[in-house]
Amino acid sequence: MAILKIYTYPDEVLRRRAEPVEDGGDSAFQELISDMVETMYDAPGIGLAAPQVGVSKRLCVVDITSGEDPGALLVLVNPEITETWEKDTREEGCLSVPGFFYEVTRPSRISVRFQDRHGQPAELLAEGLLARAIQHEIDHLNGVLFVDRLGLVKKELFKRRYRQNLSEAVVS
Ligand SMILES: [Zn+2]
Repeated sequence: MAILKIYTYPDEVLRRRAEPVEDGGDSAFQELISDMVETMYDAPGIGLAAPQVGVSKRLCVVDITSGEDPGALLVLVNPEITETWEKDTREEGCLSVPGFFYEVTRPSRISVRFQDRHGQPAELLAEGLLARAIQHEIDHLNGVLFVDRLGLVKKELFKRRYRQNLSEAVVS
């Protein structure tokens, strides 16, 4: 297993719509999943999508317990949200946008259809933090970052703060 490089904003791999996974069974794919899980726990984060490690495939891993509960790890291949209910607003961050946290409004309960790491079809009802994490990761598969979901004013604030951090980094 290996810790993978996490690509950060504004890298263009984060903006691409990822390709469906069709080679689910092979060992390179299983290794990619294991490496993504290790990278997520190492970061640490509660979710990681393949485009964040430079692989434009529809695959993400989620564990809202950050590895504390071995049964909590979810590997979602070709995930699709089939239904959503209600909405709530909570602060989010992203390993690809380090240092920035903003409140984002999303559906609070979802139904998601996917394949597991061995290609078996599955369906899951999720709510609260788990529903939010899964939606955040599926956004990555569509080239969407959480800062894209902010209102106009907050989005401008993010861009300004981001440029400011960048110029400070160049100076120091
Ligand atoms: Zn993210």
